[in-house]
Amino acid sequence: MHEVDVIVIGAGAAGIAAAHRLAPRCSVKVLEARDRAGGRAWTVEHSGVPLDLGCGWLHSADENEWAEVATMLGFAIDQTPPPWSRRSHQLNFSAADQAAFSDAWDHFDERVAEAGRALPDRPEAELLEPGGRWNALLDALSTYINGVELERLSVHDFVHYRNTGVNWRVTKGYGALIQAFAAGLDIAFNSPVTLIDHSGERIAVTTPRGTLTARAVVVTIPPTLIADETVRFTPALPDKVRAAAALPLGIADKVFLGLDHPDDLPVQTRLFGATDRTATGSYHLRPFGAAMIEGYFGGELARELEATNGFAAFAIDQLAALLGGDMRKRLHPIAASAWQRDRFARGSYSYARIGCSDLRAVLAAPVDDRLFFAGEACSINDYSTAHGGYRTGVKAAEQVLAVLQSPKTHKVRRARS
Ligand SMILES: Cc1cc2nc3c(=O)[nH]c(=O)nc-3n(C[C@H](O)[C@H](O)[C@H](O)COP(=O)(O)OP(=O)(O)OC[C@H]3O[C@@H](n4cnc5c(N)ncnc54)[C@H](O)[C@@H]3O)c2cc1C
Repeated sequence: MHEVDVIVIGAGAAGIAAAHRLAPRCSVKVLEARDRAGGRAWTVEHSGVPLDLGCGWLHSADENEWAEVATMLGFAIDQTPPPWSRRSHQLNFSAADQAAFSDAWDHFDERVAEAGRALPDRPEAELLEPGGRWNALLDALSTYINGVELERLSVHDFVHYRNTGVNWRVTKGYGALIQAFAAGLDIAFNSPVTLIDHSGERIAVTTPRGTLTARAVVVTIPPTLIADETVRFTPALPDKVRAAAALPLGIADKVFLGLDHPDDLPVQTRLFGATDRTATGSYHLRPFGAAMIEGYFGGELARELEATNGFAAFAIDQLAALLGGDMRKRLHPIAASAWQRDRFARGSYSYARIGCSDLRAVLAAPVDDRLFFAGEACSINDYSTAHGGYRTGVKAAEQVLAVLQSPKTHKVRRARS
């Protein structure tokens, strides 16, 4: 097929949600660079245990559309509260210190909220208490949540993020759920788009497998690939490129380690590799009760460990220092992500450069009512999440349908035919 009503570029959360909304109403083709759907949602299996290398938590789960999709598709949801909402392991973090840290977090949060109401925008690092005891750990949390350190985190962007505080998981994997939702859509895999030519009456989209034309296109690729012009537009769209460059992807990565004789470790518990520095892993002991430890790394540490394939060695060093040298024998690397190196992502989730949070709306804005944009980076309140991707995808699809169904469009088409 060389002509369709709508082309959706990218089969991640946003593209799949957009295609679902469009498909019953017009002809839709999804062009996906990878050989699988899901994008940054990716579940792999190890000995029958699903491992989410990308998104794992249904954030704002009580109003997350993916939770509804899970129910619809028969995917079980685990509602165990996340380890970060409960007491962490006390081995290197006493109950008193955890309470003091929690206070420091709350006070920091209040200062961020206040600064969010003031001009100009600032890096969140400026709101740390000078010499504060918990500054390094607050910064470490920022690398997990945002993929960057506080010195690069925009106050104005962060205060827009909405979170109901309810976090659940999909037992068989968040990535598996999103991939399952893609079943039945018309997706051309291994089709990396290189050019979107919107100079003619129909929009021509080029991949190494050929050129496809459409009346409208929904672009859902990560902003990194618009910024570096891996995907180009003709005529050029400098405002989009500038907005995308101001919304880079921070880095967050995971490592999964198998654990022999797991019973001496508590289940579903967080253990920080260290509490006095920013460059530390955070370890989720025995997720779902499995004989496993899931490590999480963010920001510069993740960037460095990706460069050396060093996640497992770093994690085992930290865990052996805390839990005893026999951990070196009991822990076995299973899998690790490397999202910065991933050429169809180039990072994990978006953040706004200081003073640039308004550019999310610029990235999301349609062009000539024919080119539409979606993806988590386009979301003002739900950026960096899979449900943010979903919502922007549905919004872009609604915009497409409004244009395709408008009497004005019909008139123009009749005049041209
Ligand atoms: C380690 C990690 C942990 C995370 N944890 C969570 C979490 O717990 N909860 C949560 O909600 N979110 C989490 N996220 C974020 C979440 O995964 C993303 O926000 C979401 O999946 C993004 O969806 P998207 O559709 O916007 O983009 P993507 O998933 O990146 O989809 C874009 C698609 O476009 C494709 N593409 C790229 N280039 C081209 C091209 N040239 N031509 C055609 N196709 C192309 C890509 O292959 C991809 O499939 C996490 C992410 C990571 C990396």
